[in-house]
Amino acid sequence: MNNITNEFPGLNAEIDGEPVLYLDSAATSLKPKVMIDAISRYYSGVACNVHRGKHFAMEEVSNQYEQVRYNVANLIQCHGNEVVFVSNTTEAINMVASGLELQKDDLVLVSENAHHSNLLPWSSKAKTEIIVSLPNGAIDIEQYERLLQQKPKVVALTHCSNVTGIYIDLERMAALAKSVGAIVLVDAAQSIPHRKVSVKSGNIDFMCFSAHKMLGPNGVGVLYGKADMLESLVPQTLGGGMVDWVEYDSFRLRKIPHRFEAGTPNIAGVIGFGASIDYLNRVGIDVISEHDRRLGHFILKEAKKRDYIKVICDDESLDRGAVLSFAIRGLDDLDDVSRYLSDSYGIIVRNGHLCAQPYTQSQTDGQVLRVSGYIYNSEEDIKTFFSALDEICTSML
Ligand code: PLP
Repeated sequence: MNNITNEFPGLNAEIDGEPVLYLDSAATSLKPKVMIDAISRYYSGVACNVHRGKHFAMEEVSNQYEQVRYNVANLIQCHGNEVVFVSNTTEAINMVASGLELQKDDLVLVSENAHHSNLLPWSSKAKTEIIVSLPNGAIDIEQYERLLQQKPKVVALTHCSNVTGIYIDLERMAALAKSVGAIVLVDAAQSIPHRKVSVKSGNIDFMCFSAHKMLGPNGVGVLYGKADMLESLVPQTLGGGMVDWVEYDSFRLRKIPHRFEAGTPNIAGVIGFGASIDYLNRVGIDVISEHDRRLGHFILKEAKKRDYIKVICDDESLDRGAVLSFAIRGLDDLDDVSRYLSDSYGIIVRNGHLCAQPYTQSQTDGQVLRVSGYIYNSEEDIKTFFSALDEICTSML
């Protein structure tokens, strides 16, 4: 997909004269010019509010804003009123965990490799049990089925791990959870940017993702909820925009999804998100998925050629994307490696515990380095990264 790289201004950036090689898209993606332009057009025009009156500009901006809701609905195959705009995945999961009004002894199943955002909202409110993975990174289905016999109230799945890049069999796991009557929430922050995910498969109740990981702006995310599930969820933020009748001591909620969008939303961000979805559709989600799988396997193969690297879950037979984390044998603190990569080679990757600390610590004593690619990265980029890492590790080990 080399022909698209000139559409991302961020790829022209330099660090100390070195062109940037961006390999941290699992944290946040770079932005295409069309998305930046869409935001700029909104702010350069009559940058008014949405749904707050009847003037012409308001109707035009409100229409644009609502159109994006339908673009999202098309993307994940649901109805427009099942799409709530939020600020990010973290907020979406918290809205569900709080809005379900869980009791302390309600059981929630969470994934061993969950991001903190799909762990803490649950563990702070209910009893949690961990769905474990086998050493190769695949879910231990037998253990999962045993946990389901305890009749959990919620099963909070992670579609693709931000540590290993490995995908679960979402349809199967969600269907098993539904068979015992659990509410199924899917953290799709790492999968939606790369894969076609339909909420219909597996009968998912809630799904959460962030625009900034899929070429969109910061500060916009999506909470999908099946209509009846959204109806039963208690809004946690009250104020303007989410009510249609108010008295001093009572109020009437607006219909879904608006009852969950209190206050002035991130209008420019939502409009920018619309442009990023259009962009992804133009490239083609199937083309993007294919690229993601190929790049993911290429990263894994390159990593496995090196004895000094200990990959977290290196099974080549699993469905994985272009995200890989590994420890470096003999080096516990990888801050210096990460800094060296950026300052001397212009290569941007992530190191640390990746907001999945219980999991990364169970896999390695120290930190991990994570390399992640997206549509603007090539196999050449991966080769460049590993040869820089070879040089650094030769000098440090
Ligand atoms: N879930 C996963 C799997 C993630 O990778 C991330 C971000 O890295 C999040 C949740 C949180 O996303 P956000 O910071 O956009 O809320």
